[in-house]
Amino acid sequence: MKIAIASDHGGVELKSAIVNALSTVATIQDFGPATKESCDYPDYAIPVAAAVAAGEAEFGILICRSGIGMSMTANRFQNVRAAICQTTEVATVTRQHNAANVLCLGANDVSPDYAVEIAKTFIATPVDMDERHARRRFKLERAGRLSDCSGLMHDDPEVFAAIKAQTEQEDTEINLIASENTSSRACREAAGSVLMNKYAEGYPGKRWYSGCLPVDAAEELARKRACELFGADHANVQPHCGSAANMAVYFATIKPGDTIMSLSLDQGGHLSHGSPVNFSGKIYNIVPYLVNKETEMIDYDDLEKQALEVKPKILLSGASAYPRTIDFKRIREICDKVGCIMMVDMAHIAGLVAGGVHPSPVPYADFVTTTTHKTLGGPRGGMVLCKAQYAKALDSAVFPGMQGGPLENIIAAKAVSFREWMQPEKKEYAAQIVKNCKVLCKTVQDRGYRIVSGGTDNHLFLVDVKTTKGITGKEAAAALDAAGIVVNKNTIPYDTESPFRTSGIRVGTASVTTRGMKEPEMIKIGTWICDVLDNIADTSIQERVKAEAKALVAGFPVP
Ligand SMILES: *Cc1c(COP(=O)(O)O)cnc(C)c1O
Repeated sequence: MKIAIASDHGGVELKSAIVNALSTVATIQDFGPATKESCDYPDYAIPVAAAVAAGEAEFGILICRSGIGMSMTANRFQNVRAAICQTTEVATVTRQHNAANVLCLGANDVSPDYAVEIAKTFIATPVDMDERHARRRFKLERAGRLSDCSGLMHDDPEVFAAIKAQTEQEDTEINLIASENTSSRACREAAGSVLMNKYAEGYPGKRWYSGCLPVDAAEELARKRACELFGADHANVQPHCGSAANMAVYFATIKPGDTIMSLSLDQGGHLSHGSPVNFSGKIYNIVPYLVNKETEMIDYDDLEKQALEVKPKILLSGASAYPRTIDFKRIREICDKVGCIMMVDMAHIAGLVAGGVHPSPVPYADFVTTTTHKTLGGPRGGMVLCKAQYAKALDSAVFPGMQGGPLENIIAAKAVSFREWMQPEKKEYAAQIVKNCKVLCKTVQDRGYRIVSGGTDNHLFLVDVKTTKGITGKEAAAALDAAGIVVNKNTIPYDTESPFRTSGIRVGTASVTTRGMKEPEMIKIGTWICDVLDNIADTSIQERVKAEAKALVAGFPVP
C-alpha cells in the first residue's frame, strides 16, 4: 500500500508520529515539510492530492492545525475525496460511505497517539459497496456534470446556460444521431486545456515559433498513437474537421478540374465528396457512383465498369449513410486497374475499424481520412492517414497549404482518444455498437418498417418511412424528437423527396452504446420508435414515450 503524506508547519510533529507508526505497514511518500518554518498549506496539499488523483498513492494524509485548508485544497482534484476526521468513528464512516481517500487531521484537535489510531482505522476500513452508497458516491463524483464548467457559472452565466442545457439534454434524451457520440471526460479535459494557448504552425520539431516543446510532445503522441492504432505509415492529426481532411488529400494529389469518383450525396455520400454547394464540387469534376437499385448496396462490378470508363484521378469511398460493410480490398483492385488513387473516408466507421469490427481500409488505401468524433468518440476534428510516399505532400497540403496554427488542445484530445482505443475493452464496445444496431434495426423491421438494403452491418441503418407509413423523414424525426428520441431525416437511395423532407430517417447506436445500453434497451427503443411513427399525430404517445425514455436513460449515465 502506498500512502502520500504532508502537513504544514502546524502538523509536522503529528506527521512524524504517523510516518513512524505506518512505515511498517505501508510505503510512505513524505512530501514534507521537514521543519516547523511557516509555510503555505496548499503547497503541501497539492502534491498529495495529485498523487491520489493520479492513482500513484492509494491514500493521502494531510495535517494542519484544523485540517480544513488541507481538505479544501485536496477536494479540488477529481477523484479525491478528502475528509477531516476527529475520531476513529468518523474515519470508519467516511471510508464506508464516502470512500474517502485522503485523511485530513487537525493538530489542534487530536493527540499524536490518537491521530495514529485514526489513520490506522482509516486505511484498514473497506468501502461499503452497498448500492445506495455507491449511487451517492457516483453523484458526488460527477457533481451533476456541472463541475466540468463550474467556473463559468460565475464568469459567464449565459454561456454556462447553454452548456447546462446540453448537459440536461444528454442526460434525458436517447441520442441516435449516427454521426454523434459521447466523449470521455479525459478527452474533454485535454480539449479544454492550456494547450489551446500555443501557436504551433508547422510540425513537431519544425515549428515557426519558439516554445513549442509541450505541444510537440502532445502532437507527437497523437501521430504515433494514430499510426499504431490503425497500422498506418503516416498520420496528419492537424485537420480541423473531416471536410478539411478531405480537402488536404485533394490538394496534395490532384489539380482543379481533375475527376473524382465518389458515392452520390443523396445515396449516402458526404458534402465534401463533391456536392455542388461545397468546395469539392466547385473545384473538381465530380462523377458520382450509385448503389444498385434493387439491393441498395454498392455493386462492385458496376463500380469497376464505371471507373474504367470515367478514369478518375481519385476513387473515393466511404459514406455518411451507408449501412453495409465496404469491400476495400475489391476497391483496391479497381483502383489498380484504373491506375487511380484510392482514397477512403472512414469518418463514420473509424471506431468500428479501430475496434476490429469493420475491415480496415488502411492496408489498401493510399489515403484514409476520418473524423475523430463519430464512432471513434473523441474530440470534434479530422485526421489523414497515408502511405509513406505521400507523407510530405500531405503535410504541406495541410500546412501551409490550407491551415495556419493547429488546435493543439484538440490534437491532445485526439491522442487521449487513440489511447483509449488501445484498451482491450474497446473491442467489446465496438462489437456492442454493431450488435445493438442489428437488434434495434430488427425490432423496427419486425414491426413492418422497410429498412434500406434490408438491414445493417455497422453502427447505423436507414428506415424508409415514406414507403412504410406515407410520412416524410422530416415529420418522423420531429415526432421522435417530441418523444425524446433524437434521429435525423435522411435521403434514401433513389429518393423521390427533396433533401429537406426526405423519405427516410437515419438511426445510429454509437452514443447509446457508449452509455452502456445493450440489446434489451435496443428492443425497448425500437418499440418506442414504432409506437410513435405508427401514430404520428398522437401526441399522447409521444408524451408517454418521452417519460419512459427519460426513465431509461437515467440508468445509463453519460461518461
Ligand atoms: C461527417 C463526415 C465528414 C465531415 O466531417 P466534418 O468534421 O463535419 O467536416 C466527412 N466525411 C464523411 C463521410 C462524414 O460522414
